[in-house]
Amino acid sequence: MFQVILYYNFQPINEPDRFCKAHKKFCKEIGLKGRIYISDEGINGTAAGTDQQIEEYKNYLWSLPGFEDTEFKQDESDYIPFPRLTVKTRDEIVALHVDDVNPENGGNYLEPQEWRRVMEEEDYVMIDVRNNYESKIGHFEGAIQPDVENFYDFPKWMEEAEIPKDKKVLMYCTGGIRCEKFSVLMKESGWEDVNQLHGGILRYAKEEGGKHFKGKCFVFDDRLVVPVNPKDLEPIARCEITGKPADTYINCANMECNKLFVCSEEGAHQMEGCCSEECRQSEYKRPFDPKNAFKPFRKWYNYFGEDFKEREMSSAAE
Ligand SMILES: [Zn+2]
Repeated sequence: MFQVILYYNFQPINEPDRFCKAHKKFCKEIGLKGRIYISDEGINGTAAGTDQQIEEYKNYLWSLPGFEDTEFKQDESDYIPFPRLTVKTRDEIVALHVDDVNPENGGNYLEPQEWRRVMEEEDYVMIDVRNNYESKIGHFEGAIQPDVENFYDFPKWMEEAEIPKDKKVLMYCTGGIRCEKFSVLMKESGWEDVNQLHGGILRYAKEEGGKHFKGKCFVFDDRLVVPVNPKDLEPIARCEITGKPADTYINCANMECNKLFVCSEEGAHQMEGCCSEECRQSEYKRPFDPKNAFKPFRKWYNYFGEDFKEREMSSAAE
Protein backbone atom coordinates (compact mmCIF):
# COMPACT_ATOMS: atom_id res chain seq x y z
CA MET A 1 0.00 0.00 0.00
CA PHE A 2 1.09 3.55 -0.77
CA GLN A 3 0.08 6.83 0.82
CA VAL A 4 -1.43 9.70 -1.18
CA ILE A 5 -1.41 13.18 0.34
CA LEU A 6 -3.17 16.41 -0.57
CA TYR A 7 -2.31 19.68 1.14
CA TYR A 8 -1.91 23.42 0.83
CA ASN A 9 -0.73 26.29 2.95
CA PHE A 10 -1.26 29.97 2.23
CA GLN A 11 2.00 30.96 3.85
CA PRO A 12 3.75 33.77 1.95
CA ILE A 13 7.07 32.70 0.40
CA ASN A 14 9.60 35.48 -0.21
CA GLU A 15 11.70 33.80 -2.85
CA PRO A 16 9.50 31.21 -4.58
CA ASP A 17 12.18 30.20 -7.10
CA ARG A 18 14.74 29.43 -4.44
CA PHE A 19 12.16 27.72 -2.25
CA CYS A 20 11.04 25.65 -5.25
CA LYS A 21 14.55 24.55 -6.14
CA ALA A 22 15.30 23.32 -2.62
CA HIS A 23 11.91 21.64 -2.42
CA LYS A 24 12.40 19.82 -5.69
CA LYS A 25 15.83 18.63 -4.64
CA PHE A 26 14.46 17.17 -1.43
CA CYS A 27 11.52 15.45 -3.13
CA LYS A 28 13.83 13.94 -5.74
CA GLU A 29 16.21 12.65 -3.10
CA ILE A 30 13.50 10.79 -1.23
CA GLY A 31 11.88 9.55 -4.48
CA LEU A 32 8.49 11.25 -4.09
CA LYS A 33 6.04 11.39 -7.02
CA GLY A 34 3.36 14.00 -7.49
CA ARG A 35 2.59 17.60 -8.34
CA ILE A 36 3.61 20.51 -6.16
CA TYR A 37 3.00 24.17 -6.97
CA ILE A 38 4.74 27.03 -5.24
CA SER A 39 4.14 30.77 -5.46
CA ASP A 40 4.63 33.85 -3.33
CA GLU A 41 1.25 33.05 -1.75
CA GLY A 42 2.23 29.56 -0.55
CA ILE A 43 2.24 25.91 -1.53
CA ASN A 44 -0.33 23.51 -3.03
CA GLY A 45 0.51 19.88 -3.57
CA THR A 46 -0.57 16.32 -4.04
CA ALA A 47 1.96 13.50 -3.85
CA ALA A 48 2.37 9.80 -3.21
CA GLY A 49 4.96 7.37 -1.89
CA THR A 50 5.65 4.68 0.68
CA ASP A 51 4.80 5.28 4.34
CA GLN A 52 8.40 6.26 4.91
CA GLN A 53 8.66 8.65 1.97
CA ILE A 54 5.47 10.41 2.99
CA GLU A 55 6.59 10.68 6.62
CA GLU A 56 9.89 12.16 5.50
CA TYR A 57 8.17 14.66 3.22
CA LYS A 58 5.69 15.77 5.89
CA ASN A 59 8.47 16.22 8.42
CA TYR A 60 10.44 18.24 5.88
CA LEU A 61 7.54 20.59 5.16
CA TRP A 62 6.71 20.93 8.86
CA SER A 63 10.36 21.83 9.52
CA LEU A 64 10.19 24.89 7.23
CA PRO A 65 9.46 28.18 9.01
CA GLY A 66 5.78 29.06 8.65
CA PHE A 67 4.77 25.59 7.48
CA GLU A 68 4.66 23.90 10.91
CA ASP A 69 0.86 23.87 10.85
CA THR A 70 0.38 22.40 7.36
CA GLU A 71 -2.55 19.98 7.33
CA PHE A 72 -2.49 16.87 5.15
CA LYS A 73 -5.41 14.91 3.79
CA GLN A 74 -4.15 11.35 3.49
CA ASP A 75 -5.42 8.27 1.72
CA GLU A 76 -4.14 4.85 0.67
CA SER A 77 -3.73 3.52 -2.83
CA ASP A 78 -2.39 0.18 -4.09
CA TYR A 79 -0.33 1.97 -6.73
CA ILE A 80 1.40 5.35 -7.10
CA PRO A 81 -1.16 7.45 -8.95
CA PHE A 82 1.37 9.86 -10.49
CA PRO A 83 3.67 9.19 -13.43
CA ARG A 84 6.42 11.50 -12.17
CA LEU A 85 7.42 14.35 -9.91
CA THR A 86 6.58 17.93 -10.87
CA VAL A 87 7.63 20.81 -8.61
CA LYS A 88 7.00 24.20 -10.22
CA THR A 89 6.46 27.85 -9.44
CA ARG A 90 3.19 29.44 -10.52
CA ASP A 91 1.62 32.90 -10.28
CA GLU A 92 -1.06 31.52 -7.98
CA ILE A 93 -1.13 28.14 -6.21
CA VAL A 94 -4.77 27.89 -7.22
CA ALA A 95 -5.70 30.05 -10.18
CA LEU A 96 -8.67 32.36 -9.61
CA HIS A 97 -7.21 35.13 -11.79
CA VAL A 98 -8.28 37.80 -9.30
CA ASP A 99 -5.64 39.97 -7.66
CA ASP A 100 -5.20 40.48 -3.94
CA VAL A 101 -7.37 37.67 -2.64
CA ASN A 102 -6.17 37.08 0.88
CA PRO A 103 -7.42 33.82 2.44
CA GLU A 104 -7.09 35.44 5.86
CA ASN A 105 -10.33 37.19 4.97
CA GLY A 106 -12.04 33.96 3.96
CA GLY A 107 -15.24 32.33 5.15
CA ASN A 108 -15.82 30.76 8.52
CA TYR A 109 -14.44 27.21 8.77
CA LEU A 110 -16.94 24.48 9.48
CA GLU A 111 -15.36 21.29 10.76
CA PRO A 112 -16.89 18.12 9.24
CA GLN A 113 -19.09 17.38 12.24
CA GLU A 114 -20.41 20.95 12.38
CA TRP A 115 -20.99 20.94 8.61
CA ARG A 116 -23.15 17.86 8.97
CA ARG A 117 -25.12 19.41 11.81
CA VAL A 118 -25.75 22.59 9.84
CA MET A 119 -26.85 20.51 6.85
CA GLU A 120 -29.34 18.67 9.01
CA GLU A 121 -30.72 21.59 11.00
CA GLU A 122 -30.33 24.94 9.29
CA ASP A 123 -31.44 26.93 6.29
CA TYR A 124 -28.71 27.68 3.76
CA VAL A 125 -27.54 27.79 0.17
CA MET A 126 -24.78 25.31 -0.64
CA ILE A 127 -22.29 25.79 -3.47
CA ASP A 128 -20.06 23.09 -4.95
CA VAL A 129 -16.88 25.06 -5.72
CA ARG A 130 -15.56 22.57 -8.28
CA ASN A 131 -15.77 22.16 -12.02
CA ASN A 132 -18.82 20.67 -13.74
CA TYR A 133 -17.07 17.41 -14.64
CA GLU A 134 -16.20 16.93 -10.94
CA SER A 135 -19.59 17.61 -9.33
CA LYS A 136 -21.30 15.50 -11.99
CA ILE A 137 -20.14 12.22 -10.43
CA GLY A 138 -20.61 13.24 -6.80
CA HIS A 139 -21.81 16.11 -4.64
CA PHE A 140 -23.56 16.96 -1.38
CA GLU A 141 -27.35 16.66 -1.35
CA GLY A 142 -28.96 19.90 -2.40
CA ALA A 143 -25.78 21.64 -3.53
CA ILE A 144 -25.75 24.06 -6.45
CA GLN A 145 -23.39 22.60 -9.06
CA PRO A 146 -22.14 25.51 -11.16
CA ASP A 147 -21.71 24.69 -14.84
CA VAL A 148 -18.10 25.90 -15.08
CA GLU A 149 -15.04 24.24 -16.57
CA ASN A 150 -12.36 26.10 -14.64
CA PHE A 151 -12.01 27.48 -11.16
CA TYR A 152 -11.30 30.93 -12.59
CA ASP A 153 -14.79 30.95 -14.12
CA PHE A 154 -16.32 31.18 -10.63
CA PRO A 155 -16.16 34.99 -10.25
CA LYS A 156 -18.32 35.41 -13.35
CA TRP A 157 -20.64 32.63 -12.23
CA MET A 158 -21.07 34.37 -8.87
CA GLU A 159 -22.12 37.63 -10.55
CA GLU A 160 -24.90 35.85 -12.41
CA ALA A 161 -26.06 33.28 -9.87
CA GLU A 162 -28.55 35.48 -7.98
CA ILE A 163 -27.86 34.07 -4.55
CA PRO A 164 -29.56 36.23 -1.89
CA LYS A 165 -26.97 38.15 0.11
CA ASP A 166 -28.71 37.49 3.42
CA LYS A 167 -28.63 33.71 3.01
CA LYS A 168 -26.23 31.53 4.93
CA VAL A 169 -23.75 30.26 2.35
CA LEU A 170 -22.04 26.88 2.66
CA MET A 171 -19.30 25.99 0.21
CA TYR A 172 -17.05 23.01 -0.30
CA CYS A 173 -14.44 21.63 -2.68
CA THR A 174 -12.14 18.59 -2.75
CA GLY A 175 -9.59 19.51 -0.11
CA GLY A 176 -10.51 23.09 0.80
CA ILE A 177 -8.13 25.27 -1.19
CA ARG A 178 -10.60 26.60 -3.73
CA CYS A 179 -13.01 27.68 -0.98
CA GLU A 180 -10.17 29.52 0.77
CA LYS A 181 -10.10 31.91 -2.17
CA PHE A 182 -13.66 31.87 -3.42
CA SER A 183 -15.06 32.58 0.06
CA VAL A 184 -12.97 35.78 0.19
CA LEU A 185 -14.54 36.92 -3.05
CA MET A 186 -18.09 36.23 -1.86
CA LYS A 187 -17.52 38.10 1.37
CA GLU A 188 -16.03 41.07 -0.46
CA SER A 189 -19.02 41.03 -2.79
CA GLY A 190 -21.51 41.41 0.07
CA TRP A 191 -22.45 37.97 1.36
CA GLU A 192 -22.15 38.09 5.11
CA ASP A 193 -22.54 34.56 6.40
CA VAL A 194 -20.03 32.60 4.31
CA ASN A 195 -18.87 29.19 5.52
CA GLN A 196 -16.40 26.70 4.08
CA LEU A 197 -15.97 22.98 4.77
CA HIS A 198 -12.57 22.72 6.45
CA GLY A 199 -10.53 20.00 4.74
CA GLY A 200 -13.07 19.57 1.97
CA ILE A 201 -14.86 16.42 0.86
CA LEU A 202 -11.83 14.20 1.51
CA ARG A 203 -11.65 15.06 5.20
CA TYR A 204 -15.42 14.92 5.55
CA ALA A 205 -15.36 11.41 4.06
CA LYS A 206 -12.90 10.28 6.71
CA GLU A 207 -14.55 11.94 9.69
CA GLU A 208 -18.27 11.78 8.93
CA GLY A 209 -18.38 8.74 6.66
CA GLY A 210 -19.57 10.85 3.77
CA LYS A 211 -23.09 11.27 5.20
CA HIS A 212 -25.32 13.33 2.84
CA PHE A 213 -22.82 13.01 -0.01
CA LYS A 214 -24.14 11.37 -3.17
CA GLY A 215 -21.78 9.55 -5.53
CA LYS A 216 -17.99 9.70 -5.51
CA CYS A 217 -15.23 12.27 -5.48
CA PHE A 218 -13.12 13.30 -8.46
CA VAL A 219 -9.40 13.62 -7.63
CA PHE A 220 -6.57 15.06 -9.73
CA ASP A 221 -4.38 11.97 -9.87
CA ASP A 222 -4.47 8.70 -11.78
CA ARG A 223 -7.18 7.28 -9.56
CA LEU A 224 -9.52 10.02 -10.83
CA VAL A 225 -12.41 8.80 -8.68
CA VAL A 226 -12.42 7.83 -4.99
CA PRO A 227 -15.31 6.67 -2.78
CA VAL A 228 -16.74 9.08 -0.19
CA ASN A 229 -19.56 7.20 1.50
CA PRO A 230 -18.86 3.44 1.65
CA LYS A 231 -22.56 2.79 2.23
CA ASP A 232 -23.56 4.60 -0.93
CA LEU A 233 -21.42 3.60 -3.90
CA GLU A 234 -24.07 3.76 -6.61
CA PRO A 235 -22.98 5.95 -9.52
CA ILE A 236 -25.09 9.09 -9.88
CA ALA A 237 -23.77 10.07 -13.32
CA ARG A 238 -24.52 8.38 -16.61
CA CYS A 239 -22.33 7.01 -19.37
CA GLU A 240 -22.42 9.62 -22.12
CA ILE A 241 -22.53 6.90 -24.76
CA THR A 242 -25.00 4.35 -23.37
CA GLY A 243 -26.94 6.49 -20.90
CA LYS A 244 -26.53 3.86 -18.19
CA PRO A 245 -25.24 4.65 -14.67
CA ALA A 246 -21.45 5.07 -14.61
CA ASP A 247 -18.75 7.01 -12.82
CA THR A 248 -15.59 6.15 -14.74
CA TYR A 249 -13.95 8.67 -17.00
CA ILE A 250 -11.97 8.47 -20.20
CA ASN A 251 -10.38 11.01 -22.47
CA CYS A 252 -11.81 10.86 -25.99
CA ALA A 253 -9.53 8.72 -28.17
CA ASN A 254 -9.63 11.34 -30.89
CA MET A 255 -6.41 13.15 -30.08
CA GLU A 256 -7.75 16.39 -31.49
CA CYS A 257 -10.70 16.24 -29.08
CA ASN A 258 -9.29 14.59 -25.94
CA LYS A 259 -12.43 15.57 -24.01
CA LEU A 260 -12.74 14.06 -20.54
CA PHE A 261 -16.13 12.40 -20.26
CA VAL A 262 -18.04 9.87 -18.18
CA CYS A 263 -17.96 6.55 -19.99
CA SER A 264 -18.77 2.93 -19.07
CA GLU A 265 -16.86 -0.07 -20.34
CA GLU A 266 -19.75 -0.88 -22.64
CA GLY A 267 -19.80 2.67 -23.99
CA ALA A 268 -16.06 2.64 -24.56
CA HIS A 269 -16.35 -0.53 -26.64
CA GLN A 270 -19.28 0.82 -28.56
CA MET A 271 -17.60 4.07 -29.56
CA GLU A 272 -14.01 2.74 -29.51
CA GLY A 273 -13.06 5.13 -26.75
CA CYS A 274 -14.46 8.21 -28.45
CA CYS A 275 -16.99 10.76 -27.21
CA SER A 276 -18.98 10.85 -30.46
CA GLU A 277 -19.40 9.21 -33.84
CA GLU A 278 -17.66 12.18 -35.38
CA CYS A 279 -14.58 11.60 -33.21
CA ARG A 280 -14.69 7.88 -33.97
CA GLN A 281 -14.31 8.70 -37.65
CA SER A 282 -11.38 11.04 -37.05
CA GLU A 283 -8.03 10.29 -38.64
CA TYR A 284 -6.47 11.33 -35.31
CA LYS A 285 -8.11 8.51 -33.37
CA ARG A 286 -5.64 6.41 -31.44
CA PRO A 287 -6.20 2.63 -31.50
CA PHE A 288 -8.68 1.18 -29.04
CA ASP A 289 -7.20 -1.38 -26.70
CA PRO A 290 -10.01 -3.08 -24.76
CA LYS A 291 -7.59 -5.20 -22.72
CA ASN A 292 -6.01 -2.21 -21.06
CA ALA A 293 -8.85 0.22 -21.25
CA PHE A 294 -10.24 -0.27 -17.76
CA LYS A 295 -7.18 -1.20 -15.82
CA PRO A 296 -6.02 1.82 -13.84
CA PHE A 297 -7.37 4.72 -15.77
CA ARG A 298 -3.95 6.08 -16.60
CA LYS A 299 -3.59 3.50 -19.37
CA TRP A 300 -6.00 5.57 -21.35
CA TYR A 301 -4.09 8.73 -21.33
CA ASN A 302 -0.55 7.47 -21.15
CA TYR A 303 -0.62 8.33 -24.80
CA PHE A 304 -0.92 11.94 -23.78
CA GLY A 305 1.45 11.98 -20.89
CA GLU A 306 1.00 15.21 -19.03
CA ASP A 307 -1.30 16.77 -21.57
CA PHE A 308 -4.49 15.99 -19.71
CA LYS A 309 -2.95 16.88 -16.40
CA GLU A 310 -1.42 20.14 -17.40
CA ARG A 311 -4.82 21.17 -18.65
CA GLU A 312 -6.72 20.09 -15.58
CA MET A 313 -4.09 21.03 -13.10
CA SER A 314 -3.90 24.56 -14.34
CA SER A 315 -6.67 25.36 -11.90
CA ALA A 316 -5.58 23.34 -8.89
CA ALA A 317 -3.37 20.60 -7.59
CA GLU A 318 -6.53 19.28 -6.08
ZN1 LIG B 1 -14.28 13.50 -28.91
